Amino acid sequence: MRNTFSTISAISTPPGNGGIAVLRVSGEESIAVVNNIFSANLLKRKSHRAVFGRIIYHGKTIDEVVVTLFRAPRSYTGEDVVEISCHGSMYIAQQILDILLENTRLAAPGEFTQRAFLNEKMGLTQAEAVGDLLTAKTKMQHLAAMNQLEGSLHNHILRLSKKLTHYRTMLELEIDFFEQDLDEINRNELIGGLEKLKEELQRLADSGEEGMILKEGLRVSLVGAPNVGKSSIFNSFLQNERAIVTAEAGTTRDFLEEAISLNGYLVRIFDTAGLRETSNQVEKIGISRSYEIIKNSHKVLFIVTEQENEEEFLKLTQIINPKKIIKILNKADLYSEDVIANFRKKGYLIASANVENGLDEIKNILLSDIAISEDDIRSGILNNSRQIAAAKRAIASIDKALDSIKAEMGFEFTAFDLKEASHSLEEIIGRITDDDILNSIFSDFCIGK
Ligand code: GDP
Repeated sequence: MRNTFSTISAISTPPGNGGIAVLRVSGEESIAVVNNIFSANLLKRKSHRAVFGRIIYHGKTIDEVVVTLFRAPRSYTGEDVVEISCHGSMYIAQQILDILLENTRLAAPGEFTQRAFLNEKMGLTQAEAVGDLLTAKTKMQHLAAMNQLEGSLHNHILRLSKKLTHYRTMLELEIDFFEQDLDEINRNELIGGLEKLKEELQRLADSGEEGMILKEGLRVSLVGAPNVGKSSIFNSFLQNERAIVTAEAGTTRDFLEEAISLNGYLVRIFDTAGLRETSNQVEKIGISRSYEIIKNSHKVLFIVTEQENEEEFLKLTQIINPKKIIKILNKADLYSEDVIANFRKKGYLIASANVENGLDEIKNILLSDIAISEDDIRSGILNNSRQIAAAKRAIASIDKALDSIKAEMGFEFTAFDLKEASHSLEEIIGRITDDDILNSIFSDFCIGK
């Protein structure tokens, strides 16, 4: 039976042996629970103090540890928190956890951060940033998560919210006290102001697509007939850029996927089986998977050698927007100037994977797709579908408000729409939210965070 203690505990460090392992306990009983199994008295200790001592259970020393106290509300979760740093053996950490679980409950994934949010230690976008920070693999992911944690997006939304409140107040005054039409100046100010606000919100919503790419990686697939040099291009990228280990255990694939950090951005490259006709059953399966991968790519590198391969290109354009296709003539070292000039005229990039020619050009084109600057990141961007959907709802409500003003429907309608817009903005930072959304956000975290 699941126990019902409100104090939670978990091992916060990853499984495996390390120098130390850290356990975390949070909740009203946390200090008392640890005190019961600790050699020194913790009850009167001040907050933010580390105490050396032993964990003792039924008279037996389990380990020598350092215990750090954080008293409410000056802790990560806003509750009393105790952290136990023990020797980094999973056996020891697990033993201490088992003892703690006699009087506490095992924390759910992300529950410490969820409590921090519920106790108003951080807004929802900041709590989400904690999750992003834990999984950051590249410079830009780290920059974005760190800025979001420090409140870039939260403050950006607050600024927009404040402007919206200004217009709502203006309307409410009009409705409550004057019961007459706004004069022309106010009406124009309202329309102009709301249109500007809508533009700002639109820019923010647009940043969401780039923000998602930044977080989840730019998906690039390589397509072309056998022997055109797909693997060679793939390998040159891996050798020249920082390769990232993407441990997605348990997946069998008929394609190769590697992740690299390209100028600090996460790029996931897929070497596909191509789209050609085949009667071979195994190859058929591989090819149908290729369809899926290609369809979900942000960019496709379509590689040919001296022949144009129009048939495959045509097939490709049926499953992906041609704007996303970068045409490449590989093995340019083997062809005459004339042949190369001809391909160039038709919009092909010219490359020679074996001597690593032309790769920089490909790289620049890929990066131009993730054209999000460090300044944009610092001013706050959206980076998940929850935030983007809420921003879009706010835009739709402002649109309705503008329509109602222009159609002179009465300011009650406009005020109602603007209230909805405020609501959507507040959802982004978690001032208004429902339990299902919260649970789904925090369930992606690891246990102990
Ligand atoms: P894939 O089947 O499309 O993955 O092609 P590979 O990358 O395996 O390359 C097929 C052959 O072409 C290999 O022998 C490569 O060394 C060779 N190759 C790849 N790129 C070039 C290039 O730019 N120039 C020349 N001359 N040969 C290349």
